[in-house]
Amino acid sequence: MAVPRPRIIGPSTGLEKPYPLQMEGRVIRGFGRGSRDLGIPTANLPVDDHLTPWIAGIKSGVYFGWASLRLPSSHPNQHATTSSGTTMAKAMGFRIYPMVMSIGRNNFYNNTTRSAEVHVLHKFDADFYGVEMRLLVMGFIREMKDYPNVEALIEDIEVDCDVARQSLDREAWALRETGKGTLDGSWLVRETAEQNRAVV
Ligand code: ADP
Ligand code: MG
Repeated sequence: MAVPRPRIIGPSTGLEKPYPLQMEGRVIRGFGRGSRDLGIPTANLPVDDHLTPWIAGIKSGVYFGWASLRLPSSHPNQHATTSSGTTMAKAMGFRIYPMVMSIGRNNFYNNTTRSAEVHVLHKFDADFYGVEMRLLVMGFIREMKDYPNVEALIEDIEVDCDVARQSLDREAWALRETGKGTLDGSWLVRETAEQNRAVV
């Protein structure tokens, strides 16, 4: 029997150091195993120790937070109407979603390289490889574990998703940009100078 896990992480007053941690990049291809085997796709980001020096210093495990994606106009979800938990930042800009992510080695598949994989808590109608993604990592959920079978792994990830949703659904943990919270998430939706130039 699995040990019951708390569904809320962190104090209701808000984040604690060293969070939030930032990371950004374009979604790359992984081994193509996450979604196909488990029904839980993970968008992989390249890990560059120069851009994210903090990643070398934190423990491997499952984390949660906010993600933003800049889906191209050709993506089917770019034109979807806003649903709960999803915020339209700008017609062509970044949209914000809750996420869970794994950092480090993936014990279940005996991976040996450092990885950053994000499961976005939203149902998408198409892949988004190559798309810009930004992350605000808000806290640590649990260490990586070995599982007797895939079902046990999926069950634990479902709890992780629940933990993320419930933990982020508090005023001090939700973003101003989603209209529900007080935390500053402007970095997630900010247009860079380069992007502005591209529009002109
Ligand atoms: P890979 O090994 O290439 O990362 P996955 O099986 O993990 O393959 O699938 C990840 C891809 O699925 C992402 O790069 C993204 O394009 C797509 N995807 C669709 N829905 C989601 C989602 N909710 N969260 C993360 N990725 C998603
Ligand atoms: Mg993946």
